[in-house]
Amino acid sequence: MIAVKRLATDMIELLFPELCNACGTHLYYGEKQICTKCLYDLPYTDYHLHSDNRVAKQLWGRLPINAAMAMLYFRKGTKVQNLMHSLKYKSQTDVGLRLGNLLGDKLKLGEAYQDIDLIIPVPLHPKKERLRGYNQSEFIADGVAEILDVPVSKSHLLRDKSTESQTKKARYTRYENMQSVFNVNDKEQLEKLHVLLIDDVITTGATLEACGNALLNAGIKKLSIAAIAFAE
Ligand SMILES: [Zn+2]
Repeated sequence: MIAVKRLATDMIELLFPELCNACGTHLYYGEKQICTKCLYDLPYTDYHLHSDNRVAKQLWGRLPINAAMAMLYFRKGTKVQNLMHSLKYKSQTDVGLRLGNLLGDKLKLGEAYQDIDLIIPVPLHPKKERLRGYNQSEFIADGVAEILDVPVSKSHLLRDKSTESQTKKARYTRYENMQSVFNVNDKEQLEKLHVLLIDDVITTGATLEACGNALLNAGIKKLSIAAIAFAE
């Protein structure tokens, strides 16, 4: 029976070969989502080993963080952009889990990330999540959680739906608007916790700043930040 199942799986793979989400070549048996060559070649930052990295520096003075990092450099027209595109626009949520696993492997080696109590993904705009059908950062968070063996919460940090329309009015600057977008539920459960906030790609840091401040105002003990990529 097992042999039959294996044969069926092999047939399906022969007929519909899985492709590497980074370079588009056929995956070999045992490879998942990303081929071995791409895994080796991706532009890793090693920011998990350096507390004064560019992601952390970008947030200094804006958000009191324990540590912050992103695993890869994000540049247009590269394999990293292909991966993020698969995850965000092609429903390849397994890519999120896989990248989350890789991110977890890095964090395990970073001194600043050893005592994390809870992982929280950055909530997506409710409208965007409805359109896409999922929040890509949740899959990344699940992937990290598998490696670090830490729980994930998708219910404590929420985007306020009522502020949706405010983004259309030009009444607030982007910054002021962001600050009021995030709400924290069940604050007492977060007290004294070291929270790891997970994002997909860091650009200006405005979203992380707003999320992080909401969590710190809610009384968490320590805030760390990790993302898959950093747009230079
Ligand atoms: Zn590849």
